[in-house]
Amino acid sequence: MATVVLTTPLEQLTRVGKSSAARLCRIGLRTVADLLRHYPFRYDDFGTVLPIAKLSSGTVATVRGRIELIASRRSPRRRMMLTEAVVADDTGVIQAVWFNQPYLARQFKPGEEIYLAGQVSYEFHQLQFVNPSVERVQPRQLHTARLVPIYPTTEGLTQRQLRFLVQQALPAAAGAGDPLPPDLRQRLSLPAWGWAIAQIHFPDHHRTLLRALHRLKFEELFGLQLALQSVLQKTKEIPAHPVLFNKESTRRFVGQLGFPLTVDQRKAAWKILQDISGSTPMNRLLEGEVGSGKTVVVAIAALNVARSGLQTVVMAPTEILAEQHFQTFRRLFAGWPVKLGLLTRTRREVCRGGQKTAAAQAVTKRQITTQAKSGALDILVGTHALLEDSVTFQRLALAVVDEQHRFGVQQRQRLLASDRAVAPHFLSLSATPIPRSLALALYGNLAISALRQLPQERKPILTKLVVPVARPKLYQFIRQQVGNGRQVFVVCPLIDPADISGIRSVQAEHAKLQREVFPDLRIGMLHGKLSAQLKRETMAAFVGQRTHILVATTVVEVGVDVPNASTIVIEGAERFGLSQLHQLRGRVGRASHQSYCFLCTTASGATADERLAAFLGAKDGFEIAELDLKLRGPGRMLGTEQSGVYALRLASLSDLDLAQQARDEAKKILEADPALERQPLLEALASRFRDREVHPE
Ligand code: ADP
Ligand code: MG
Repeated sequence: MATVVLTTPLEQLTRVGKSSAARLCRIGLRTVADLLRHYPFRYDDFGTVLPIAKLSSGTVATVRGRIELIASRRSPRRRMMLTEAVVADDTGVIQAVWFNQPYLARQFKPGEEIYLAGQVSYEFHQLQFVNPSVERVQPRQLHTARLVPIYPTTEGLTQRQLRFLVQQALPAAAGAGDPLPPDLRQRLSLPAWGWAIAQIHFPDHHRTLLRALHRLKFEELFGLQLALQSVLQKTKEIPAHPVLFNKESTRRFVGQLGFPLTVDQRKAAWKILQDISGSTPMNRLLEGEVGSGKTVVVAIAALNVARSGLQTVVMAPTEILAEQHFQTFRRLFAGWPVKLGLLTRTRREVCRGGQKTAAAQAVTKRQITTQAKSGALDILVGTHALLEDSVTFQRLALAVVDEQHRFGVQQRQRLLASDRAVAPHFLSLSATPIPRSLALALYGNLAISALRQLPQERKPILTKLVVPVARPKLYQFIRQQVGNGRQVFVVCPLIDPADISGIRSVQAEHAKLQREVFPDLRIGMLHGKLSAQLKRETMAAFVGQRTHILVATTVVEVGVDVPNASTIVIEGAERFGLSQLHQLRGRVGRASHQSYCFLCTTASGATADERLAAFLGAKDGFEIAELDLKLRGPGRMLGTEQSGVYALRLASLSDLDLAQQARDEAKKILEADPALERQPLLEALASRFRDREVHPE
């Protein structure tokens, strides 16, 4: 076989045929480089090699011995193949049995030297290994007598196969260049990449594994920081349009809201107006749970922008949310000479305030982009569609991104750079409160405004755990709520029942509720695989109270506003992060009636129960965010696990110290030379974090 390099396709490795290649592909592995970055998620510790005489029941260990006997037979009672072996060393003899692996008796012969690894148990008055790992003694063990890696995998692809392939791929790591610059590596005493990769797959020792992990985590966080900081660095040099504070209009606008601003809203609005009155671009995070009144604060800023003859763009992660923002702005700006636009993949509308009755008018995409470019539009709301090259602004002063962790770094950069001579002031909104320590580690010089108080007159949402036997009562309760004219959300973790068995899926749950439980009620279904058109219709039917129950995935998580909904049922609650549960719960309790949240658990475990109990006890979203950070790590908290936006495979953002170190190093490098494109090594690191697909759910 030719030398293995990072770009070698996996088909070229020994024992990879068409079908294995297809399976590997299913988990995203095409080349040797992919495989090397396919990290184990845990290890079996089979490193302790003991003499047979030292074994006792319950020990996890490896023994080295000689096969005395090995044979397969059909089990008398059960329809199963039994393979039994007797293995001896100088100190004693032990039995091993395997179920349904008859090929072992063909692969191994009496007299061979082998390792057996696994847990020893006491059965039929003797010690034995049940289904142990077995491996011939060779220069380098892969499956026994060491810390043995366990990988994420898929059906038909065994751990042994994966280990065998990784072993073949390792020489490519040893021969490849190091992704980190040598001086940085030296200064921080980080080991070489090839060594770290070899150790993370086949660690010599716990100690070396930790050192390898540290190095690879740093590399990830450093790449992320290069990507993030280079955006900040670039925009810092460009001035922003100063926005004049129009006291008279602001006062009148606030007076028309029909409610007093909360103290937090007032403070946040004031801070923002102060920031944007200068020509240094603002970089601020406005966080507050759903319903805390962020949109109103944004509207106050956008009003001042418009009164200064400048423009605002508001980007939301989903069409539903973009449309909701558009409708809210329409309401808030009724009677104001403010021209609004909506641009999503499927909808283009404009609407001029001024008259209360002003209807939104459908227009072409070209009309929208022309009006944005000429400056005729004051506020343009939309989705990713805003990021296309055709969208430019005459005088963009304020860019608002809702739930920005759902967007990639590159997407944010495109928005910021859409008007090149001037940078917009930047405001990101988050309904997931981000603990300050995390926000700083992530973004560095970011200003934060938090809306902690909810507008008054909100009744707390009654939240309960529902065990499987209590389901009939739950359904009875739902029927009652519907009878009272209320509506109900049912949220499931998955779309398709085939995805993972045993977990409730939207499709299966919808079918079950409609056929068996509530045949007389109208039940809608909403998930990310539906067309935008269908999603909108389903949502409109629910908002218009034409359906009673909406079964959905977490697409309803962010911002969806249906005040008449009083109850939310969350299936498989143990599968959600606490902050996510909190956001989902925020779908109800948006009007004066008492609202309810039911957390249904399928499999319960001690930790799951403990987490949910902590959730029930927490007083607000900020406390829940801190809990989540402690219990699960922030990668999960932000909903950005492995496949997520930030694509961190090893590091979790709770590695706060490391994240901070990575941030400082990235900043130092960028201050010396902000042009990453001139530094190919660094550019390659950063580019892993650019252009990530957005995660709509
Ligand atoms: P968020 O964007 O944070 O989810 P919104 O700005 O959409 O919250 O506000 C949620 C609801 O609360 C809206 O109907 C809004 O009109 C209302 N609201 C906002 N601020 C206040 C306030 N200070 N007092 C009463 N109601 C408010
Ligand atoms: Mg909102």
